[in-house]
Amino acid sequence: MMEQFIEIKANNPGSLLFYRMGDFYELFFDDAVEASRALGITLTRRGQHMGHDIPMCGVPVHAADDYLQKLISLGFRVAVCEQVEDPAEAKKRGGKSVVKRDVVRLVTPGTLTEEKLLSPSESNYLMALARIRGSSEPAMALAWIDISTGVFRLAESDGPRLLADILRIDPRELIVPDSMFHDPELKPVFDVLGRTAVPQPAVLFDSATAEGRIARYFDVGTLDGFGSFSRAELAAAAAAVAYVEKTQIAERPPLGRPERESAASTLFIDPATRGNLELTRTLTGDRNGSLLKAIDRTVTGGGARLLAERLMSPLTDPARINERLDSISLFLNEASLAEDLRDALKHVPDMPRALSRLALDRGGPRDLDAIMQGLSTASGIAERLDVADLPRELAEALADLKTLPAYLWSLLASQLADDLPLLKRDGGFLREAASAELDEVRALRDQSRRVIAGLQLQYADETGIKSLKIKHNNVLGYFIEVTAGNAGSMTDTPEAKARFIHRQTMANAMRFTTTELADLESRIANAADRALTIELEAFERMAAAVVAEAEPIKAAARALSVIDVARALAALAEEQGYCRPHVDDSRMFAIVAGRHPVVEQALRRQSAGPFVANDCDLSPQNGSKHGALWLLTGPNMGGKSTFLRQNALIAIMAQMGSFVPAGSAHIGVVDRLFSRVGASDDLARGRSTFMVEMVETAAILNQATDRSLVILDEIGRGTATFDGLSIAWAAVEHLHEANCCRGLFATHFHELTVLSEKLVRLSNATMRVKEWHGDVIFLHEVGPGAADRSYGIQVARLAGLPATVVARARDVLTRLEDADRKNPASQLIDDLPLFQVAVRSQEQSSAKPSKVEEALKSMNPDDMTPREAMDALYALKSQL
Ligand code: ADP
Repeated sequence: MMEQFIEIKANNPGSLLFYRMGDFYELFFDDAVEASRALGITLTRRGQHMGHDIPMCGVPVHAADDYLQKLISLGFRVAVCEQVEDPAEAKKRGGKSVVKRDVVRLVTPGTLTEEKLLSPSESNYLMALARIRGSSEPAMALAWIDISTGVFRLAESDGPRLLADILRIDPRELIVPDSMFHDPELKPVFDVLGRTAVPQPAVLFDSATAEGRIARYFDVGTLDGFGSFSRAELAAAAAAVAYVEKTQIAERPPLGRPERESAASTLFIDPATRGNLELTRTLTGDRNGSLLKAIDRTVTGGGARLLAERLMSPLTDPARINERLDSISLFLNEASLAEDLRDALKHVPDMPRALSRLALDRGGPRDLDAIMQGLSTASGIAERLDVADLPRELAEALADLKTLPAYLWSLLASQLADDLPLLKRDGGFLREAASAELDEVRALRDQSRRVIAGLQLQYADETGIKSLKIKHNNVLGYFIEVTAGNAGSMTDTPEAKARFIHRQTMANAMRFTTTELADLESRIANAADRALTIELEAFERMAAAVVAEAEPIKAAARALSVIDVARALAALAEEQGYCRPHVDDSRMFAIVAGRHPVVEQALRRQSAGPFVANDCDLSPQNGSKHGALWLLTGPNMGGKSTFLRQNALIAIMAQMGSFVPAGSAHIGVVDRLFSRVGASDDLARGRSTFMVEMVETAAILNQATDRSLVILDEIGRGTATFDGLSIAWAAVEHLHEANCCRGLFATHFHELTVLSEKLVRLSNATMRVKEWHGDVIFLHEVGPGAADRSYGIQVARLAGLPATVVARARDVLTRLEDADRKNPASQLIDDLPLFQVAVRSQEQSSAKPSKVEEALKSMNPDDMTPREAMDALYALKSQL
């Protein structure tokens, strides 16, 4: 047996091996040591190997899911090895033959299907990254699959946006070819992903065989009908498929056809921004306190997953955004419809996940029930939704609900019992009248049980032992039990002795059987066996019928999620007083009375006073075609960060197709959103706060376009004042002159406010405060103009700095301010040449050389006579 174990273990490196022995999965050697530590279970020993004890631990099969869950969440992979023949077969082979075993499945974080191992509100993506070298096409691509729901998508990516794309999709497992995994250029990406990224052999990613592999999986001759894909996309998709095959061994989860996602169709949010804005998790990794948590009013698992997906990938096409907004408007107008749907949706089970388990032969009776409930709820919802004039998104959802096959529900409803066991092997899930033969066998079984009850009375009567009982256990089957004291009278006559056959002597009881009883026993056992066989056959038929309708069931489930998300966002809008944003292709960004969706709810929960709504207008002004920049000054605690973030969040919410926390909002779609907010050390990667800040700022200045929205919070504060001010100054100029984006820029450097005199699209705004007996009162109101002071010392006093320190700081400040008054940094605005010029000359140098330049280049003054030189000069002049 150990030989077999070692061989199987060698074929599955990198995984803990769950080795099936009877009712347990056993682990041996290092696996046992690691697993016992991780799971907190006892480590024992079994036999010896090369003179050493073999460490061993085990988990019971019926509880294996719980242990798997723990191991997977700790980052382990598990190879599940089952007995693949009946132990009787092995015995037949004689000698010491070991039962055949094989790994039937690799359990990895990205390929889970069990309900216990999955979170209902999150997708569980396996992602593959592939790269094609030396071609003119985009070189990198990602493919991601959720085998628990069948979603299969692809997208091209590239160096700068790779990490952003990966984080947007947030896979549980990313497979990467060995060679790429060790590429120093990509190391920072894999560092961020940690244990999620795993190297795999390069053959999985072979682009030459990719198309064939995908076609085989979907059982089609060619992929032409699926759309066109780049070579990198095909390689990534084939790798993902190959990994599914590798982990699922014999089973094939039903995948949807690969759908292509184009980079331009989603709002690009860089990794730092995604983290800073706390979209799905806070900076500390908590889900509570994230935007998603604050806006999620869905009632189905599928709805919750779709909402998260939309939040992670907002759109850039105004038409599609408006379609989503139309659905919300409908539900706001039709309150009773929305309410009825909510009540119905609450009963929607997770159909895609049940379906996937059934297809993988891991399903149970409750999965069939989930499909049955899903089908009936879906048809109820379709009926209720079938009102006049649905907007497009909901009309499509309705159409998908209507294509559900009605016969499937009738089939399941006519077969499944009301109370269902968890496991099919427990039987008892077929209802009465589902099968005539089953009814017959069950009747026989029940009748036999009644006969046994009759026998007990009869035997008690015959022997005169009132306490005689007929009992059952798994070892003896049915037996007669009498107390030790009464045992004598069971065998006191020769007839009785012949009749009651002794089976077992216990401490204070004696057990017997009779031929009648043994006969009944085998009839009952046979009946039970036959009943289970009939039930299992029926199960297979039902599962096959369900799997045959996988496509319409998945489409319907998706439709239900779409409906749930639309009505959930309507409920949110109603509850929180959100407005419908006006989204178009312009460069507008006009928010009236905007609020921060998360802070607002938090203040309300703590009854900490109302959130102060603020306007923000970055729309093009004075005939400019580009949007505007605001430079925001004000004291600490004044609400600058909150204001910056709320406007970024409003843009994201609008583009995901949600109403927004504002009085009104007009937003020209944003193509990329960048933010630099707060300061966080990245010491683990050896970067100081300032370094992180500069890396992030560099990314923004290099990538923001005139459609982008940029949020910068106090750049340059991590270094000496003059350094910081200079960097901030230059960054604002660059954003204004070169990026031409819309942006909000919070700063402590009041000197910067003079820039608004020269930069036409830059305005100053400030957080208003009131002074009251030497204290500051924060009004949290944004108004035009610049703050005249920082109030840093007042804030320090509020924070409890010792009075002596506060007084001393006031003295120092007065001195410094005097010095500055004599030679203010703001004078720079008059002395410095315009940044614009520098940008232009840079642009020119990278542009095509002019005719004059070309003519100059071709001249060689050494070969010219003075006369020729003079002519050439005139010729040049004439070209200007
Ligand atoms: P700053 O960035 O200027 O230091 P913050 O944005 O961090 O200030 O805000 C400080 C605190 O003020 C926040 O924790 C929040 O509770 C409160 N606050 C900010 N903006 C508002 C507002 N518009 N209405 C009410 N309270 C606000």
